[in-house]
This record gives sequence, structure tokens and C-alpha cells, in this order.
Amino acid sequence: MTKPVISIVCPCFNEQEVIHTFTDKITEILGETNFSYELLFVNDGSKDNTLTVLHDLAETDKHIRVLNLSRNFGKEAALTAGLEHAEGDVIIPIDADMQDPPELIHDFLREWQKGYDVVVAKRIDRSSDTLAKKITANLFYKFHNSIADVEIPDNVGDFRLITRRVVQAIQLLPENQRFMKGIFSWVGFKTSVVEYARQPRAAGESSFNGWRLWNFALEGITSFSTAPLRVWLYIGVAISTVAFVFGSAIILKTIMFGVDLPGYASLLTVVLFFGGMQLIGLGVMGEYIGRLYMESKRRPVYILEQDSKKTESDGK
Ligand code: UDP
Ligand code: MG
Repeated sequence: MTKPVISIVCPCFNEQEVIHTFTDKITEILGETNFSYELLFVNDGSKDNTLTVLHDLAETDKHIRVLNLSRNFGKEAALTAGLEHAEGDVIIPIDADMQDPPELIHDFLREWQKGYDVVVAKRIDRSSDTLAKKITANLFYKFHNSIADVEIPDNVGDFRLITRRVVQAIQLLPENQRFMKGIFSWVGFKTSVVEYARQPRAAGESSFNGWRLWNFALEGITSFSTAPLRVWLYIGVAISTVAFVFGSAIILKTIMFGVDLPGYASLLTVVLFFGGMQLIGLGVMGEYIGRLYMESKRRPVYILEQDSKKTESDGK
């Protein structure tokens, strides 16, 4: 039997300062494991020298392979590209910034050898995150899990081990808006959890600011639940019922006591309230229709400009 191969998949966007530290550390850890491995970096349209740094490393180390995307497609797309090209028997997606401790790979492999197809890393300590990020992340997991069809475990990121058959399952999902956390959960398989404390970034900056995180959260919710669309039926029914009862009361009152004119303020309030409600409902529909529209174009998730293993260009 041939030795299993480990593929490390690392999406990189403007990571020139950390790549060397990351590569040294990961090489050291993988050296301790006795498995063969490949280090697959996906350069996601970095604006700095990440690509040059990666190519220099690939020149000297045959374990390293570099996929270069034609522009910045976002982490989910970069990860998808990596998963599609990884050749190992087990695949480990990991961030370049050392926030995912490479030491955990030992625990991953141990769990995998026990027979698990998925080993996820759960953050037990988010002290490296700001308070706002902690609170919003928490709210997101609560809300998402209360309405989505598949639950995503809280405080679990993309850092994990998955076996080849999990990757094959992921590739069966054809959508091009790829919320990886949800996709990972959706495919299922026997999962083990190892815990760790999340480190601050080694250098550089997070690319996920408030607005990007908000959109990421929307993507997650709309990708895995239609509850926000469907809830309007019930809101509508509830409001119509109230309106019907209220209307009947007014008609009765008018018949019995005649018309009295005052009511401008309450009328305006009601008009504004329902106007607002309708716009919110339309907005939610807009979120879904927009995604439906983008999805209907069937565009590829990413364009590969160059693969250091093939060094010819092709599209996906
Ligand atoms: N990343 C990427 N494309 C992007 C944004 C980020 O490939 O458009 C990579 C980035 O290089 C890093 C990982 O995704 O390896 C996580 O990004 P980051 O550290 O900015 O996110 P955070 O850890 O703050 O969630
Ligand atoms: Mg990070």
C-alpha cells in the first residue's frame, strides 16, 4: 500500500509578510508526521509580492505548488480552487496568517486515523478577536442555526481535516456562491472536534472588515435557508388579521356613533409602518433574487491563471 498523502491548502491574499514563517512552521510539523505531503498555495489576486514569494519558494521546495487566480475572487473561491486541485488523500485547509495553529495537524491526523472523515478545529478562546466580532459572530451562529436546514457548529472555521471522499462530495455541489462553512456541514460525514485557542494574526491585516463580514453572514443565511423569505407570509397573515379586526371595529363604531374626523397622526404612523414593513419584505426578496440572478449566470467560481505544476493557463 502506498503512503497516504496530505494536502495542505492555503488561500493567500496579501500575505507576503507571513508566508515564510508559515511555510517553515508547516514544513517542520509535516516533517514530524512521516506522511508525504503537498503544500498547495492559492494566490487570490494579491496586490503585494505574495505571488513572487510563493514562486521563489516553489523553486526550492518540490512539495510546494502554487495556483494563481486571475484576480481576487475571495477566500471561498480560493479555497474551492485549492480543494479542486489538491491531490492528497486527506486535505487540510488552513489560513496563511498563523491564526490556525499548524501544531493541531498532529491532532487532526490522530483523529483521522481513528476513522473520522472530518476533523474540525473549534476555537475555545476567541480573545484574539475584538468584542464586536465576538458578539456578532455569536449572534450569527445562533440566528443561522435557528433557521437553516443544516447546523454549522459555532466557533468552527475552515481549518479542518477532510478526506478525499468528503472533497468529492463537496465537488458535487454545483453552486457558484460558495459559503464553505455551510457546504462543509451540508456534506456531513463522521466528524470529530479538536479544540484550540485562536492566535492573533502573525502580521498583516484581516481582509474581513464589518461590511464584508455582514455580507458574508447574509451569504451564509441565504445559501442555506429560505426562512427569511417565507416568514413574510406569516407576518402578512398576522398583520392582515389585526387590520381586519381593527377595521371591523372602526366600521362598527362608525355605524353606531357616526364619523369623527381626528386620526391624522395615527393614520400617518400606520401608513409609514406598513410602508417600512413592505420595503423590508421586498429587500429580503431582493437579496434572494439577486443571488438567484447571479447563480443563473452559471459563471465559474474562479479563473485559474497559472498552476506551477502545469505552467500553462486554463479556465475552470
Ligand atoms: N483570503 C483570501 N482571499 C480574500 C481574503 C482572504 O484568500 O479575499 C485568505 C487570507 O490570505 C487568509 C485567509 O483567507 O489566509 C483568512 O483571511 P483573514 O485572515 O483576512 O480573515 P480572518 O482570519 O480575519 O477571518
Ligand atoms: Mg486571519
